Amino acid sequence: VGTGAPLAERARAAIPGGVNSGQRSVPGITDLVVARAEGARFFDTEGRAYTDYHAAFGPQLLGHNDPDVSAAVAAVIREVDLCGVGVTPGEIELAERLIELVPSFEQVLLTSTGSEATFHALRLSRAVTGRRLVVKFQGCYHGWHDAVSLNVISAEDALNRPDPISAGILPEVLESTVVLPFNDAEAVRRLFADHGDQIAGVIVEPVPHNIGCVLPTDEFLITLREQTTQHGAILIFDEVITGFRHALGGWQEISGITPDLTTLGKAFANGFPLGAIGGRADLMQQFSSRPGGSAFFAGTYNGAPVVVAAALATLTKLTEQPVHEHTFRLGELARAGLREVFAELDLPAVVTGYGSIFVSYFMPGPAPRTYSDLLANRADLFVGYRRKLIERGIFELPLNLKRSHISYAHTESDIEQLIDGTRD
Ligand code: PMP
Repeated sequence: VGTGAPLAERARAAIPGGVNSGQRSVPGITDLVVARAEGARFFDTEGRAYTDYHAAFGPQLLGHNDPDVSAAVAAVIREVDLCGVGVTPGEIELAERLIELVPSFEQVLLTSTGSEATFHALRLSRAVTGRRLVVKFQGCYHGWHDAVSLNVISAEDALNRPDPISAGILPEVLESTVVLPFNDAEAVRRLFADHGDQIAGVIVEPVPHNIGCVLPTDEFLITLREQTTQHGAILIFDEVITGFRHALGGWQEISGITPDLTTLGKAFANGFPLGAIGGRADLMQQFSSRPGGSAFFAGTYNGAPVVVAAALATLTKLTEQPVHEHTFRLGELARAGLREVFAELDLPAVVTGYGSIFVSYFMPGPAPRTYSDLLANRADLFVGYRRKLIERGIFELPLNLKRSHISYAHTESDIEQLIDGTRD
């Protein structure tokens, strides 16, 4: 890393921190200036190739610059850029296809990002219940806005953060957020027994991927559904990562648990800026039926034709080609191969993940079930291992606890390169 030095200097002068993405806290990565990306790889300004398992935090399930997605975008841009009035046939088709694919969807609205979708879901939960408290889980990330206060461990943690920006988070919002340990069904039951009449909603990444990949127990998800139903609170599945990647219908299809609201993002437009909120029609209708209703759900770029075209092309490919079969098979190969290498090297590593996602934690097993389990992860080994991979032209983000992604463009020989790069 560090090949684009003069450009990186210009970036630091013009852009605070030198990057626009969430990688601003990763030393060295801010010196990486990307010129081009295609398929499983991106290239820096000096032409160096990196096999990409970061996938811009996940969206490129088909790989970079998928030819079918790019062709669909090029075609639509000749017809309409952005009107901001009425609706386009593409938006209607996309909404209908999402309703077909996601088990809990009766109606859906588009946003530009996942953060907007979670914001709307939380505000709607408070509006329809007339209650204030929102429950989230340790290590789960739901966006950058105050309403869920990043991936905090607790409200105190957020309030006491030393960085200047966290000081700008509204204390009222933090005080209205209860943070519980993930996979702790008993803690959920206790909270509802004591405060059930004050809880507006529960938001959860059904599989927390912002701390690698932590699989839920059946009991945990069933308890969330039972308790929210019993106490009249809204259950929100944040499927911004799990949606489309783990199954076309997301984790709700796999688990059989039906949330009231679901937020989507990332993979369904393969890198174009798109999010969505959908779910029960009686809840979604609140966005239209109140006086001046549409003002409660706004966004200049919602339903932008270019993004909608990208999503339709992505969904067509996801439904018509063996994307899941291919990426899941490579995921298995990666996990098995990495387990073998770490055993050979006598490194205490837990290789886990699901489908096309993999992550190696440097700690004794078994695979983590809670955020606290991850305190045993050796961040120095984790980051050091990934920096070594980058030197070998294999890009996994060198940031503690970050998951890695396989796309439809990766091949078996890419996985061999990953395993060999780990062994050397
Ligand atoms: N929810 C989850 C589970 C996410 O991982 C993210 C982004 N990493 C978001 C919401 C926010 O999405 P966006 O970055 O598109 O605002």
